[in-house]
Amino acid sequence: MTDHSTPSYELAIVGGGPAGLTTALYTTRLGHPTVVFETEGGRHAAVSHVHNLLGVSEAVSGRELAAHAVAQLEHYGGDFFQDAVQSVTRRDGPQFRLEAAHATVDADRVVFATGFRDRGPDVPDLERFTGRGLHYCLHCDAYTLGDGPVFVLGHTESAAHVAMTMCNFTPDVDLLLDGREPAWGDETDTQLAAHPVDRIDTAVVSAYADDRIDEDEPPWLGGLSFADGTEQDYLGGFAMYGSAYNADLGCDLGDDGAIDVDENRETSVDGIYAVGDVTHGQNQTTIAIGDGASAGLAIHKDLRTFPKSLAELEDGDDGADLEQSVPATPSDLRARMRRVRNAETQPGLRGPPPDRE
Ligand SMILES: Cc1cc2nc3c(=O)[nH]c(=O)nc-3n(C[C@H](O)[C@H](O)[C@H](O)COP(=O)(O)OP(=O)(O)OC[C@H]3O[C@@H](n4cnc5c(N)ncnc54)[C@H](O)[C@@H]3O)c2cc1C
Repeated sequence: MTDHSTPSYELAIVGGGPAGLTTALYTTRLGHPTVVFETEGGRHAAVSHVHNLLGVSEAVSGRELAAHAVAQLEHYGGDFFQDAVQSVTRRDGPQFRLEAAHATVDADRVVFATGFRDRGPDVPDLERFTGRGLHYCLHCDAYTLGDGPVFVLGHTESAAHVAMTMCNFTPDVDLLLDGREPAWGDETDTQLAAHPVDRIDTAVVSAYADDRIDEDEPPWLGGLSFADGTEQDYLGGFAMYGSAYNADLGCDLGDDGAIDVDENRETSVDGIYAVGDVTHGQNQTTIAIGDGASAGLAIHKDLRTFPKSLAELEDGDDGADLEQSVPATPSDLRARMRRVRNAETQPGLRGPPPDRE
């Protein structure tokens, strides 16, 4: 029996970072009623300056980018709920029911775009410099730290690997074990010893700000203090303590804990897709956006009504029935399409291009 009190969507997306919002933008603009649920705390919200995003200034933060994307989504007719999804269950009719803290919806397809959480360092006072001297993304921030004194905090294979990789950018790299035993293998140990990386075993006890004062901006990291009473100035560095995927959602996972998906970004559960950081190790905004777009297109192909295949036509859809179901996009979204077409301004980042003279 249809439950008329529960809103029904063709698509429900869990997670409103770059991946989820891109899928939502595609499916909404392809005529599918779409809702996004987002609870604060994603990696995009930790980005103080977005790097490597074509045409977007580094002055833009991850939060600002998401705010523009939400305005775009709502402008085109998508729904955005600031709410944490607590369960997704399969049911008849609309395939899935999503229960969030403040809302319940049904949906034909579900996308998990839930990302992961970086495990932070165990150093008092360091976390406040996230994005301003404490970093998690080599491909985003190695350029920012190039040619300066840099640390890598960690004692694992990946910490050793990042420390050696930073030799591409600066001659001054310290690998800080923070009082722990190295957990890398013999090969890495030999490799590391041959690189100009200073290994420091002493525990790190606190972090201090640099002395540049800018009243409009929070402070940058100035350096770290060690248990033996010494201090070392750093331009910044990376914490390498692994991550925890927000992937406890009932789909098959890979060995690393990320959700397994096929080339259409569909998971092991029919009708459930996953995109962005929760699915793989290439954790970049542009890759999350590309993933979101791929899933949006695949879901549209899966849900679309037209063109009817020859098999469907032979199965009895006569001309009259067909005409009844044209057009397939619901009337409220079609009304929105007319409004957007006639709107004088459209939301999203914009500004004049730089002067080419
Ligand atoms: C400090 C830092 C700086 C970075 N800088 C850059 C950079 O300059 N350039 C770049 O390309 N990349 C950068 N990255 C990487 C980039 O932020 C990520 O690759 C990108 O945000 C991934 O997008 P996503 O949508 O997959 O996940 P996320 O951005 O993590 O979004 C997932 C969202 O899902 C939400 N969520 C989870 N569970 C639920 C639930 N049950 N219900 C509702 N919502 C839920 C989360 O709270 C989160 O908001 C940086 C990362 C960090 C940590």
